[in-house]
Amino acid sequence: MLDAVVVGAGPNGLTAAVELARRGFSVAVFEARGTVGGGARTEELTLPGFRHDPCAAAHPLAVNSPAFRALPLERYGLEWLHAELPMAHPFPDGTAAVLSRSVGETAASFGPRDAGAYRRLVEPFLPRWDRLVRDFMSLPLTALPRDPVTLARFGLAGLPPATLLMRRFRDEPARALFAGLVGHVMAPLGGFATGAVGLVFALAAHARGWPLARGGSQALSDALEAHLRDLGGEVHTDYEVKRLDDLPPARAYVFDTSPTALARIAGFGSHYAGYRYGPGVFKIDYALDGPVPWTAKEARAAGTVQIGADSAEIGAALRAASREGRAPDRPFLITTQPSVVDPTRAPEGKHVFWAYGHVPHGWTGDLTDAVERQLERFAPGFRDRVLARATAGPPELAARNANYVGGDIATGAASGLQLLLRPKLTLFPYHTPHPAIFICSSATPPGPGVHGMSGHNAAKAVWKRLRQT
Ligand SMILES: Cc1cc2nc3c(=O)[nH]c(=O)nc-3n(C[C@H](O)[C@H](O)[C@H](O)COP(=O)(O)OP(=O)(O)OC[C@H]3O[C@@H](n4cnc5c(N)ncnc54)[C@H](O)[C@@H]3O)c2cc1C
Repeated sequence: MLDAVVVGAGPNGLTAAVELARRGFSVAVFEARGTVGGGARTEELTLPGFRHDPCAAAHPLAVNSPAFRALPLERYGLEWLHAELPMAHPFPDGTAAVLSRSVGETAASFGPRDAGAYRRLVEPFLPRWDRLVRDFMSLPLTALPRDPVTLARFGLAGLPPATLLMRRFRDEPARALFAGLVGHVMAPLGGFATGAVGLVFALAAHARGWPLARGGSQALSDALEAHLRDLGGEVHTDYEVKRLDDLPPARAYVFDTSPTALARIAGFGSHYAGYRYGPGVFKIDYALDGPVPWTAKEARAAGTVQIGADSAEIGAALRAASREGRAPDRPFLITTQPSVVDPTRAPEGKHVFWAYGHVPHGWTGDLTDAVERQLERFAPGFRDRVLARATAGPPELAARNANYVGGDIATGAASGLQLLLRPKLTLFPYHTPHPAIFICSSATPPGPGVHGMSGHNAAKAVWKRLRQT
């Protein structure tokens, strides 16, 4: 009998499997798709030679993840590439705010009236970042935090809504950039603890950047898989699990799935009925004839570019998708341009680029025109560079990955208490009604993103049980 079976080979499932195998447990992973990776994979979605990331491309959370940093992933081919700037936020007048590795350069881009406020916000946390990130990503705490004072200070700054934190800034560059950071987890700006979301992304940039993986995000997943196999773990692809009987006998089962799917597969009835899913996204992968013709020079040097003219426009776009049940006319866009730093992603002189905007849960419309009108405001001539595009709205995203219920790429609304405490209000979120069944997906803390920390935290709960039984 196996010690543990993991269902789903996303970053969290693979991390849980690796953590268990490293501790000498026998592990097998079962993945519905033909390749491992879940939200961290790379495919030729448009034209031959164009290597796109259908989901995650920018990795501020992965490069800062205590779980990944403890693994020898570079030995298995993972290489982080840093663009000159982690992130840029251009404005229609051709200027831009930036999130740079340097606090000084970032503060300067916000203008003289906000530079000091930004420094005062981030500088106290940076010397203690490694302990803070470990404590924050281990919430809810079942052991003493490593640095309770810094964690408490971070809570005071981050637990109120982002709108309150943004009042520290007087001008739009800082306000818009910060509003955009909150949009990365599809959280409404006025929501509980959304200040913490913006702060984590900003601190991550200053600490270790927002890199991309050479060759695409698949490199991270392939490194995790290769390490797992070296440790004796098995990986089975093209294996969708519909019932527990589909799985071999094991002492523990770990699900990198949505709570809804877990409840269906394990027969947990209405156990997760209170779990809420959030808005969806509409994503476009582009093959381009050249780089994006951004007006702002900073945007040409950044791995990630946020698009939203000001904080009001960004707030309106997030509200339209999450509260008003309609697609925004001017969507807030998150875009990445991996081939700015990685020539392996496209034929010589060509580029891959992706952009997504928020839409209501389960939305079935086509946002392509609104996305491209928005891009043309900041990069006139963008459309002329498009060689091919692959679009995916909520139904296509959910078909690619069952965890993206209704196109919700966070696998659960990042709002209210559910932003931090998911999938239920409990100190033991990785446990389920069955003592041998665990959940490790981004529906558990610390939530969405490629960081493997949900898998890491869940694996701890699993090995504690395996050692007791
Ligand atoms: C368009 C988009 C852009 C994103 N951009 C970023 C980004 O730039 N940076 C970032 O950090 N994050 C980003 N994310 C979010 C990130 O991809 C996810 O938060 C992360 O992948 C979650 O990891 P996970 O392991 O919990 O689940 P997933 O990565 O979703 O993996 C779950 C796996 O389980 C498999 N599975 C599900 N059900 C079953 C079943 N019944 N049987 C077998 N297998 C099953 C799925 O096929 C999948 O492979 C993005 C996501 C999307 C969709």
